Amino acid sequence: MGSEAASEPWQDGLALVCEQADRIRADLGESGGLVDRVVAGARAGHDVKEPLDALHQAIMATGDVLGVYGHSARHHGPAVAGIPPVPMDVVYLCPDGHCSRYVWAEDTVEVPVCRIAGRALRRDRLP
Ligand SMILES: [Zn+2]
Repeated sequence: MGSEAASEPWQDGLALVCEQADRIRADLGESGGLVDRVVAGARAGHDVKEPLDALHQAIMATGDVLGVYGHSARHHGPAVAGIPPVPMDVVYLCPDGHCSRYVWAEDTVEVPVCRIAGRALRRDRLP
């Protein structure tokens, strides 16, 4: 946890689904079922690389050049140029550990929900 190199591309892709499954499904329209394939596969503990790739292609086909994998840099850390990061050590983590998503507790009022597990993220503290 903490090192970006520690997460696989598919985990970052899953993190996006975890966070935005509803939006992605809406954006894809007819192809929205691809989201459910990823979610169902992750819930069952299956390898989701292939359905994630399919989802990635479908998202790119809608004109979103980032697809599934291009977003990972965005949700890693709230650093904004010129504003030093506030020391934070409390995070919310994906409850089942499927994906690499995490949300700093200070960035959110409500407890985030994992769209894959259908449950609230678990609160944890970095060592
Ligand atoms: Zn998740």
